[in-house]
Amino acid sequence: MAKGTINVSVENIFPLIKKFLYSDHEIFLRELISNATDATLKLKHLTSIGESKVEYGTPQIEVKIDKDGKKLHIIDQGLGMTAEEVEKYINQVAFSGAEEFLDKYKDSAKDAGIIGHFGLGFYSAFMVADKVEIITKSHKDEPAAHWTCDGSPEFTLVEADKTERGTEIILHIAEDSTEFLEDSRISALLSKYNKFMPIPIKFGMKTETLPKPEDAKEEDPAPTQEVDNIINNPNPAWTKQPTELEDDDYKNFYRELYPMQFEEPLFNIHLNVDYPFNLTGILYFPKMTNDLNIQKDKIQLYQNQVFVTDNVEGIVPEFLTMLRGVIDSPDIPLNVSRSYLQADGAVKKISSYITRKVADKLKSLFNNNREDFEAKWDDIKIVIEYGMLSEEKFFEKADAFALYPTVDGKYYTYQELYDKIKANQTDKDDKLVILYASNKDEQHSYIEAAKGKGYEVLLLDSPIVSHLMQKLETTKENISFARVDADHIDNLIKKDDTTISKLSEEEKTALDALLKEVISSEKFMVQLEAMDSNANPFMITQPEFMRRMKEMQATGGGGMFGMSNMPEMYNLVVNTNHELVGEILNTKTKKKQERLINQSLDLARLSQGLLKGEELTNFIKRSYEILK
Ligand code: ADP
Ligand code: MG
Repeated sequence: MAKGTINVSVENIFPLIKKFLYSDHEIFLRELISNATDATLKLKHLTSIGESKVEYGTPQIEVKIDKDGKKLHIIDQGLGMTAEEVEKYINQVAFSGAEEFLDKYKDSAKDAGIIGHFGLGFYSAFMVADKVEIITKSHKDEPAAHWTCDGSPEFTLVEADKTERGTEIILHIAEDSTEFLEDSRISALLSKYNKFMPIPIKFGMKTETLPKPEDAKEEDPAPTQEVDNIINNPNPAWTKQPTELEDDDYKNFYRELYPMQFEEPLFNIHLNVDYPFNLTGILYFPKMTNDLNIQKDKIQLYQNQVFVTDNVEGIVPEFLTMLRGVIDSPDIPLNVSRSYLQADGAVKKISSYITRKVADKLKSLFNNNREDFEAKWDDIKIVIEYGMLSEEKFFEKADAFALYPTVDGKYYTYQELYDKIKANQTDKDDKLVILYASNKDEQHSYIEAAKGKGYEVLLLDSPIVSHLMQKLETTKENISFARVDADHIDNLIKKDDTTISKLSEEEKTALDALLKEVISSEKFMVQLEAMDSNANPFMITQPEFMRRMKEMQATGGGGMFGMSNMPEMYNLVVNTNHELVGEILNTKTKKKQERLINQSLDLARLSQGLLKGEELTNFIKRSYEILK
């Protein structure tokens, strides 16, 4: 029997490790299973090149709970270690690795959650165990070794009688960590960290139903058998080539990733590069709602099929964190803080690669099947619009496939929209004005009025679209957006407009004076317009600029404080060509004129949703009076 003291400078590093990585205790299991996987894959390699004479077979890794003995076993059939190797790799390599790790990250312990994900290795076992044993038999023809350590730098190393190749790690679970003796806890950990590791992992047994034999009676129960319960899929879809996979394989993998998700993804993007960095993965576009916040943190980050985290902030550009799926890259440094990560050159390249791939995929979907792309637009627009706002590179690419739907369900690209509108309408400053509605129901009468004049009206209803319009107005030349109920619409000039005013100049002056007498100038700016006689007689519009600033502030426009205190201001546009307006002017008594004006104004307010409370009640009463 050999006894010894591990040569470390810190008297006892285990209490330190324990305290330091308090919130990350659970990672010990992933570390030990990673080691077991490494040992198995190494053996696979050695046998394949003829360096090892043993039969590789179909090795698996077993995790076993011994509740009564308060022990947790992790057993592999990998290459094992000789006593000499235990001495070297465990006592020296692993220990110094742990010490180095501590030294390096002691001070930045609180920096970010990602620290502690990798690097501690074998010694993380001491976060949950007060004694650890290794019983290991090398694939080389040498006796098995049994190493025991209680967390102090003292250890024992003796010969063991284990005959099967491989390593068994036995954790004597500490009093404060008995949760790791619960089936449910271990099972949850395995499915969190090890679901896609490359070697089959067994945890307990399960009952499998077999087909009934031919001669079985109706009432006979189907036969069953006990089989190993394998918790992982060693060959997940992202590790395969895109050419090996059908559409259904991608959908099935989505279900594997998100078993509780019933909705199918809209499409996927297979990532696959090995230069200048290594990265594989599959991203999915799910159906999006208009809520920007609740859907993040669904992309899982792996390193060589080992789960690391589902917080990919800094690795994936912000606007793509709304997607789902998997990214696997050994090239992402993990023992660093988020702020460091974002400044890292390799990570920056990864991030822009992902952005480019997503843009390319969208472009090809648009080119190959525009109809389908249009049908999906509503579910994906939030990501695309967000990307256009936040990533200049993406904006440039997306300009070719970002869509602008009309209220009638037509879809234009920016260029198509531009050409269409240029042929049809300008404003007084010869600017191209793009009309849009944000709500088909609320702005119905305005939409109808604009359509009646032959204008194209877009339906732009996502929460960040006001930011996007602002961006388009500054990047594109000579265009502006105006909501159908905005004041801009009054300045619009239809190129083939031939409407002439029915009122003479004197009549207009008289009408203007009359309206200003009845209507408070603090609330409404009265404007006379000769419009189509079918357009409503009174219409209320709001300055586009002011309304949009308020909207942008509400969705995080930034820097525009004070806007919310601005008074509500409206224009009252009076259609001088409408019959009723002529009638108001020609009505004999003042009282009757006032009644007609107030009633019409209230109707205009009603259609903008501006008539409320007592005013609404009075309006309805008055309307009944008139009907009598
Ligand atoms: P790392 O895995 O990063 O090398 P660890 O501390 O996890 O660091 O492990 C240290 C070393 O111990 C490994 O490199 C390996 O040589 C050896 N080792 C650990 N677990 C096993 C195992 N199950 N089978 C064979 N060797 C192992
Ligand atoms: Mg390791």
